[in-house]
Amino acid sequence: MENTITGHTRLAALFATPIRHSVSPMIHNTAFQALGIDAVYLAFEVGTDGLERAIDSIKNLEMIGANLSMPNKILAVEYMDELSEAARLIGAVNTITNDQGKLTGHNTDGTGFMRSLQDIDVDIIGKKITIIGAGGAATAIIVQAALDGVKEITVYNRKDDFYDKIKAKLAYISENTNCAITLYDLSDENRLSKDVAESTLLLNATGVGMKPLEGQTPIQDFSIIRPDLAVCDVIYTPRETEFLKQARIRGAKTNNGLGMLLYQGAAAFEKWTGQEMPIEIVKPIIE
Ligand code: NAD
Repeated sequence: MENTITGHTRLAALFATPIRHSVSPMIHNTAFQALGIDAVYLAFEVGTDGLERAIDSIKNLEMIGANLSMPNKILAVEYMDELSEAARLIGAVNTITNDQGKLTGHNTDGTGFMRSLQDIDVDIIGKKITIIGAGGAATAIIVQAALDGVKEITVYNRKDDFYDKIKAKLAYISENTNCAITLYDLSDENRLSKDVAESTLLLNATGVGMKPLEGQTPIQDFSIIRPDLAVCDVIYTPRETEFLKQARIRGAKTNNGLGMLLYQGAAAFEKWTGQEMPIEIVKPIIE
């Protein structure tokens, strides 16, 4: 294999733990190589203890930038010089850009999800959607959907710690956007059925459907699914959760979380390089 690393090669990194399973190095290095960009992307095992020093190294080593995973995404907010609107509203950073020593925290998880809807030809702008879940993935999607012009979001979560924590945050997001956002108990099946009937999209943004909850579904009554409803899952392992399978059987357009994963990376790549990620080359390596 030809060695293309030189004294000019720049570094982008992932600061996370655990990290060795991550597909992000494959995604970004494939894209750098395909476009002839003189940069590499490496994964560093960094937890919250080492995060401040790792983020300092973005400045000290004149790195292109970095990606973060949980729980670093939340802690990183306080180390940024600036925050994008989405990162501020979400309260979490998954992408850091370095503009000559000025570090800006972005969150591309929500934009990743929004772009993934184009793959199934679904437009939710100006419409109502229903989201199950109120954790990190859900919050990023709710904020981006609200910023992009979704009219109304009904959020359903079981009555756990997330339910209590997210209430004030959803009110804050709603006040700062033109989107009406309300939170309901996931066990209120009648209300859920009514909201889904008025929605263009139903999204599972919980971990229900992947290990250790593989085979389980976040809703039990699938009679609320109709053919003109888009049904999405943030989960991509398995590629088709039981939730998506049941929706597909009832004729709904479905999409798993692979697009969100791919396009959050593409959005980070574009912020770092100013170039579009070559999706047709990168997509096959994660499918
Ligand atoms: P989180 O821990 O922040 O939130 C978990 C959410 O699931 C909460 O709303 C919680 O109430 C809900 N939940 C947990 N167990 C439940 C149960 N038994 N019944 C009903 N609700 C339940 O997690 P997160 O970071 O938001 O991740 C959620 C899922 O999103 C995970 O499967 C993760 O792999 C996936 N994810 C995908 C992408 C992507 O790019 N596709 C990105 C981030 C996260």
